[in-house]
Amino acid sequence: MATLYYESDADPSLIQGRKVAILGYGSQGHAHALNLSESGVDVRVGLREGSSSATKATEAGLRVLPVDQASAEADVIMILLPDTEQKAVYDAQIAPHLQEGDCLMFAHGFNIRFGQIVPPAGVDVAMVAPKGPGHLVRRTYTEGGGVPSLVAVAQDATGKAHDLALSYAHGLGATRAGVLDTTFDEETETDLFGEQVVLCGGLTALVTAGFETLVDAGYQPESAYFECLHELKLIVDLMYEQGIAGMRYSISDTAEYGDLTRGPRVIDQGVRQEMQRILGEIRDGSFAEEWIAENRNGRPRFHELRAAGKAHPIEEIGAELRAMMPFISAGKQRVEDISGG
Ligand code: NAD
Ligand code: MG
Repeated sequence: MATLYYESDADPSLIQGRKVAILGYGSQGHAHALNLSESGVDVRVGLREGSSSATKATEAGLRVLPVDQASAEADVIMILLPDTEQKAVYDAQIAPHLQEGDCLMFAHGFNIRFGQIVPPAGVDVAMVAPKGPGHLVRRTYTEGGGVPSLVAVAQDATGKAHDLALSYAHGLGATRAGVLDTTFDEETETDLFGEQVVLCGGLTALVTAGFETLVDAGYQPESAYFECLHELKLIVDLMYEQGIAGMRYSISDTAEYGDLTRGPRVIDQGVRQEMQRILGEIRDGSFAEEWIAENRNGRPRFHELRAAGKAHPIEEIGAELRAMMPFISAGKQRVEDISGG
């Protein structure tokens, strides 16, 4: 087993002895700023002029500064801006204020892994990446828990970057759940692979294809929706709580036999080969290059594909059916409240 760090492994005083700037107050930013602040860390939040998050952060009792001033004042700078914005903000407002011994931190390795941000030699470069959405990083902390996190060091100028990252993770509440060492390469590549192949891309394509297959065969779209989308959460909850074998214990033997014999026919050798090709595009940088170019060009393909997804019949029938089950969306407002701005 790999080494996991827990509360007694971290030295809380390391991060408490630094001046920390949290840049951005979105999903991750608000959670890092509030958790660290309540863990006795000297936090300032860096936001753009006129940011709608400034009021929220100020009302939460945090000090808000423009990004360049926060960067100048701090000696630990955690960049929690959208990955696609980080390079431009770094070049204009962070890099000019970096001093020897400062620590630049990230919650995802994209910009370091793909060479978009190249920090100067005298600066520590570390990652503290919670393995969960920001609103859970905040909520579990207030409940006395934490979200498991990864730490990594890309550049260790001071020789103390790892201890500092672990101390930061501790302030975030992550050592209550477990902190795992990784590298910027591993975190970035596995994160992109997971979201493309399993969690987001693979899953939405699987659900949509199953829905279309049933509807095309003449079944009611309502049946297809319940079967291919709605029930998914119930199955995933069982897997999350008890693993795949535990989920199989809860389903009928008929379902389990179909699972065991038909699953590998859906995810066959061809699909596995495509997974390897996708992993190859991640590792050789061609996915990153494509996405960076897409952003530079104003995201035409992204907007087109997003619009096509929204117009799919599964959305129309889903909206009607979910409106009859208001309990499903009970937690939705909270997620929207803390996102972006
Ligand atoms: P987000 O979109 O929720 O928030 C981004 C914040 O940056 C917002 O406050 C926004 O107003 C601000 N911002 C945007 N452009 C800006 C600019 N040009 N100048 C100044 N401020 C600007 O982002 P997020 O989801 O919290 O992601 C932040 C980082 O955390 C990313 O590196 C992401 O990969 C990583 N991460 C996110 C999650 C998650 O749950 N969302 C999980 C793990 C890691
Ligand atoms: Mg991710």
